[in-house]
Amino acid sequence: MTHTITLIPGDGIGYEVSFAAKRCIEATGVDIQWEEVSAGADAMEKTGEILPQAVLDSIKKNKVALKGPITTPIGTGFRSVNVAIRQALELYACLRPVKSYAGIKSRFKDIDLVIVRENSEDLYAGIEFQEGKPETLELIRRIEKEVKKKIRPDSGITIKPISGFASARIARFAFRYALENNRKKVTCVHKANIMKFTDGLFLETAREVARDFAGKIIFEEAIVDNMAMQLVTKPNNYDVLLLPNLYGDIISDLCAGLIGGLGVAPGANIGEDAAVFEAVHGSAPKYKGRNKVNPTAMILSGVLMLRHIKEDNAAIKLEQAVKEIIAEGKFVTYDLKADPFDPSCVGTKEMADAIISKLKQKV
Ligand code: NAD
Repeated sequence: MTHTITLIPGDGIGYEVSFAAKRCIEATGVDIQWEEVSAGADAMEKTGEILPQAVLDSIKKNKVALKGPITTPIGTGFRSVNVAIRQALELYACLRPVKSYAGIKSRFKDIDLVIVRENSEDLYAGIEFQEGKPETLELIRRIEKEVKKKIRPDSGITIKPISGFASARIARFAFRYALENNRKKVTCVHKANIMKFTDGLFLETAREVARDFAGKIIFEEAIVDNMAMQLVTKPNNYDVLLLPNLYGDIISDLCAGLIGGLGVAPGANIGEDAAVFEAVHGSAPKYKGRNKVNPTAMILSGVLMLRHIKEDNAAIKLEQAVKEIIAEGKFVTYDLKADPFDPSCVGTKEMADAIISKLKQKV
């Protein structure tokens, strides 16, 4: 069967890692027809739009996409294309497996946890009021009148909406995922002691959903700051973590650090009608075009994609090839060497080549 899949190479290191992943996926022998579309800086140059409608149409049609990272300049009017894609296609669940591979230098061994991050609301909803604007001053006046608390007039404001609907939807996703993947426990991460009406609602909703899975999946709660400490001391105590959007983003990078860094952390954004597979890392602009960064995170995102399209055999073989190359430690990028300046490290392309050779012995 031929699978038609949207490919968004991204920018910065996006081209290098997405093409490395594409080559590895093709080497599994799965029949894929790629539909390449561009978003981000490149699309802006070519079409004047950072997220052309054609990109969304292609993902909607094919229902599956592999996406490289896209730069979001800080503090400009240029909103995140990544967030825009997730919102436009209602890719409400962000799934990020965090798994140790032998051969990677890391403080911990045998970590195997999964982050389930709510992807559609919270401080990422993009509802912001700029400091000094008349509408911001009006909002400040209304809030002060309503809640009798002072807000400095030179404040900017970002709104944090969290709904019962989206909280129940992501909690059900986390519990269903746990059940289907032989996981034992879901830990809901929150700051409900401070944000009672947003995180409080997220937590209360998770508790309700947990009741439907009682006896099958253990439910646990953790305050986010304590969770950060627990994860850097006892990460093996955790299984599936359920988090609102912002905490999910931060804890994802922390967990990537537990298993050897962003170079090996894959991810997926999943909705009812479509799924987009992408690494946790960004576009690392300083490494653009240098054939330097680790393609593993994108390749493992490809493994998640292969599972999603029910090509399990191909997924198992590709993951195994990645595992073996990392364990051998020879054809790996700088970040996987004990000394990052080790002259024997290889480039992005060469690591992908080694994975492909390994794979060819299995196919
Ligand atoms: P980043 O993840 O791009 O890079 C941070 C550092 O992590 C790099 O300097 C590098 O040392 C390391 N790193 C990242 N990927 C690596 C890889 N594959 N191999 C080896 N090392 C790797 O984070 P940043 O610098 O904060 O963000 C750069 C841009 O990417 C920003 O514009 C940000 O908004 C964007 N971003 C995009 C996505 C996405 O497209 N989904 C995700 C995160 C950040």
